[in-house]
Amino acid sequence: MKKATSPAEVGRILSDVRRKGLSIGLVPTMGALHEGHLSLVRMSLARSDYTVVSIFVNPRQFGESEDLDKYPRTEESDSKLLEELGCDLLFAPVAGSLYSDADRTRVSVSSLGDHLCGASRPGHFDGVLLVVAKLFNMIRPEHAFFGQKDAQQAVIVQRMAADLDYPVRIFIGPTVREEDGLAMSSRNRNLSREKRSKAPGIRTGLLEAAEAIIKGERDASILKMKISDRMTAAGFKIDYVECVDGGTLQPVQSVEGTILLAAAGKLGSTRLIDNIALKVGPEGATETLLEFPGWSRYER
Ligand code: AMP
Repeated sequence: MKKATSPAEVGRILSDVRRKGLSIGLVPTMGALHEGHLSLVRMSLARSDYTVVSIFVNPRQFGESEDLDKYPRTEESDSKLLEELGCDLLFAPVAGSLYSDADRTRVSVSSLGDHLCGASRPGHFDGVLLVVAKLFNMIRPEHAFFGQKDAQQAVIVQRMAADLDYPVRIFIGPTVREEDGLAMSSRNRNLSREKRSKAPGIRTGLLEAAEAIIKGERDASILKMKISDRMTAAGFKIDYVECVDGGTLQPVQSVEGTILLAAAGKLGSTRLIDNIALKVGPEGATETLLEFPGWSRYER
């Protein structure tokens, strides 16, 4: 596995790869890798000739009072895991090589960030889109892989890629979970043993709401209440519990079509998120991914 720490180095390595006509897959991450990240790397290895994983704790997507300093950094073990998996290139830039104090260009999408994490973390998605756009320009991948775990991010990135004609196909990987259902997250390692035992409450709440939909419940306020009650009982300080349309990410009163149940909350000082996307019709409801291949003109 090769390693690069600056855009110039990446450019040099990838021009060679492109000359050979190899397709490039990109998995952007913030490191502290776990099986959720690795599942996306495996997707890339299966679909692309050459897999690039970026590790960058992007300061532009953290708010003033957020956990940038506390964000886990495990460079050595990350590198080892990627090497073992067969990743071709690890791109781990330092912030100074991606950003300058003089930059003024911002990337944002309208309306998709109005709710969920967009509402509780102002500026977060502009920071995400800026770094993803920069990575797309530096790496020029044919494929890029994102997790359903961050469903709003996945929808927003797909929208940006389509709207700005990035010649990339975005793939969404399902959320990988611990045995007790907790979505894997780099932040889980910040939970005390006691908080860790309560953390699956967010998943249980979402599953109970999904179960209610399957049994015929369509009223979003009743479903949200079920999730909040379960999270509160587990000790979460709720950030949001929402039921939104899977494409527009706007709140719905009644569930129908592709919808996303999503929740975020803090256990102590650790913020956790989770979601479940469902296709709901008269005949019932099935779990789905918020992947919109139709949004891309680059079906490679
Ligand atoms: P992060 O390092 O948290 O920025 O995540 C990097 C990528 O991995 C994003 O596309 C996430 O959605 C994805 N990801 C994080 N956790 C999981 C998980 N438990 N299952 C699947 N994908 C995940």
